[in-house]
Amino acid sequence: MNQKIDTICVQGGYRPGNGEPRQIPIVQSTTFRYETSADMAKLFDLEASGYFYSRLQNPTCDTVAAKIAALEGGSAAMLTSSGQAANFYAVFNLVGCGDHVVSSSAIYGGTYNLFAVTMRRMGVEFTFVKPDCTEDELNAAFRENTRAVFGETISNPSLEVLDIEKFAKAAHAHGVPLIVDNTFATPINCRPFAFGADIVTHSTTKYMDGHGSAVGGAIVDSGNFDWLAHAGRFPGLTTPDESYHGVVYAERFGQQGAYITKATVQLMRDLGSTPAPMSAYLLNLGLESLHVRMRQHCATARAVAEFLSAHPAVKWVRYPSLPGDRFYPLAEKYMPNGTCGVISFAVEGGRAAAERVMQKLRLIAIETHVADARSCCLHPANTTHRQMNDAELLAAGVTPDLVRLSCGLEAPEDLIADLKQALE
Ligand SMILES: *Cc1c(COP(=O)(O)O)cnc(C)c1O
Repeated sequence: MNQKIDTICVQGGYRPGNGEPRQIPIVQSTTFRYETSADMAKLFDLEASGYFYSRLQNPTCDTVAAKIAALEGGSAAMLTSSGQAANFYAVFNLVGCGDHVVSSSAIYGGTYNLFAVTMRRMGVEFTFVKPDCTEDELNAAFRENTRAVFGETISNPSLEVLDIEKFAKAAHAHGVPLIVDNTFATPINCRPFAFGADIVTHSTTKYMDGHGSAVGGAIVDSGNFDWLAHAGRFPGLTTPDESYHGVVYAERFGQQGAYITKATVQLMRDLGSTPAPMSAYLLNLGLESLHVRMRQHCATARAVAEFLSAHPAVKWVRYPSLPGDRFYPLAEKYMPNGTCGVISFAVEGGRAAAERVMQKLRLIAIETHVADARSCCLHPANTTHRQMNDAELLAAGVTPDLVRLSCGLEAPEDLIADLKQALE
């Protein structure tokens, strides 16, 4: 059934049977009972599917994952306990010590740390390229041992739009998948699989939850990448896994299921970044109104961005849906109905002036958060990105005077009035 995305937001992933609960049940149980050990052995050998321990899979979490898979138009999905875990698993499911990944440099500070510091310590090398690099520059970043390409649809906090088709083309020319973190756009505004991305990740903590109530993440597979056609690059998917009596994921679970199955039964089993069923339930409540909220977030951000651009105390405004923005043409191509509710801007007077304006805000709160119903702002150079030096900040598109403003669901007039008094 080809349903509209609004309908999937509300009803996707769950269809109760006769007399069953209308809202998704919270299966608050670590474990599940079986009649015989033989029944359970089949689950441990991946010969049957079913639940046995909630570190690997839980019915509530799977219901919500199925909704997110449907929203992205993917073949399979899994939830994780955070967006960080989602990005780590998404990449680590494909790489090992000695492998290499090409990543856009315009990515979330936490993801940059994960790649450039923590995963490097694990022996995985990353080459960072600017999202607006030429095709030649992009192709030159690949090596013999490159296993994946990574980027963000709209980067947090620099709001640079990824040319998904350009990155997908380069990835596929080198026989590797493109992973896109679609947190800011959400599937309401962009579905990266339609432009050639192979795997999508989310920090569901942001718009998907939308109410600042539960940290979480998700990974979605398009089912489009042919692992067996590039078997030499992905031994984890195409050669026997000794920890499951030699199962070969790409053969047993096919192109549609191999990637998420491996991430679940191997990475979640061993690393255990499992979401709580209650958190999945809260996430689902958020998803039920995602389509309605995104439209309002975008409309409000557009009005606030126009106000800021016209204000004499504002040095510059970056909002990809604003005509004249450097990324407007790409935003129009990939997100014609809107981008997100996050704006970045700088006030005249640099870093110190930015801090003064933020302190004067009454309605808009200073928070390490974005994409919430309540408007908030943050000074990345002082907080989320403070571990970066100036060169790294610039490469990530974050100037020292940049203020990130997340427009919530309050009346746009009230937000504009708050900014106006603070700027004055
Ligand atoms: C917040 C964020 C993350 C990290 O997600 P957490 O849920 O905070 O772990 C990853 N990517 C992007 C684009 C984000 O905004």
